[in-house]
Amino acid sequence: LLNKKHEKIALSPLQSTRMEEMERIVLTKDLYYAIERNELYLEYQPQHHIDTNKVIGFEALIRWKHPILGEIPPAKFVPLAEKTGLIIRIGNWVLKTACEELKRLHTAGYTWLRMGVNLSASQLKQPDFAAQIKNILSDLEIWPSKVDIEITESMMIEVERVLPVLQELHEYGVSISLDDFGTGYSSLGYLTKFPINQIKIDQSFIQRIGHLEDEMVIKTIIAMAQILHLNVIAEGVETEEQLTFLQQEQCNEVQGYLYSKPIPAAQLLNYMD
Ligand code: C2E
Ligand code: MG
Ligand code: MG
Ligand code: MG
Repeated sequence: LLNKKHEKIALSPLQSTRMEEMERIVLTKDLYYAIERNELYLEYQPQHHIDTNKVIGFEALIRWKHPILGEIPPAKFVPLAEKTGLIIRIGNWVLKTACEELKRLHTAGYTWLRMGVNLSASQLKQPDFAAQIKNILSDLEIWPSKVDIEITESMMIEVERVLPVLQELHEYGVSISLDDFGTGYSSLGYLTKFPINQIKIDQSFIQRIGHLEDEMVIKTIIAMAQILHLNVIAEGVETEEQLTFLQQEQCNEVQGYLYSKPIPAAQLLNYMD
């Protein structure tokens, strides 16, 4: 059903909608068992300091190897997990697994490293979410500032539910990033109202470096971040040209294929050597 070969067959809009619907139903059912069947795993994308090149941390990215259909991209199954509520269990697993990996890196001597973890809205809306993270960090004896939770602007709409959770995490010392910055319901109000430490400039802007308008957007984001004392990281950096521009504009950190694709856990220590 998901095989790429099928895409070549011309389908009427109605047929393709039904195929997509069937695909969603099958995937949703299989996702339910994916954790216990060990089909989910994480890859880690390195984040580098823009001037020194030093690895400052990694972002954990979820993967699903379906037994029959192969690799399913997160853009496809994370929304399904969100719709069904499965994302709570999956998100807990991600958080715990990523933190365990971080602990291994710290124990190996790379004590400065940070781990970025993507969150979903429903995770953040659990009243005891801050307590859950605190438990994981204290069990593993991880310094809270070494964990960076990534949220998006759309999650901030539910201020009353989300703000107290973020404040509690902030007070505990957990780092908070605003992911995909510039693509969502951007409101400058969010930046001062919420306890944000870092902005991640969305890769769509980075990929259009060379176009004046997109460069202006990046310059503006960085200028604003500097005024608010926020760290800025650029995602999706693929070319030297993009890197040079970001260096000139004093972006702080970078991640992208120019440095490395996301790598399996087993290669993390190798990457640090
Ligand atoms: P994101 O958090 O914005 O992650 C960045 C995405 O860009 C990742 O895609 C990464 O593999 C990709 N990327 C990194 N560098 C480059 C580059 O140089 N060029 C290009 N073209 N792409 C690059 P991925 O792994 O497919 O993840 C997609 C999205 O799925 C993530 O976007 C995030 O929103 C979501 N996601 C991933 N893991 C999790 C998770 O554990 N929990 C939740 N809730 N969402 C997740
Ligand atoms: Mg992210
Ligand atoms: Mg992003
Ligand atoms: Mg994204």
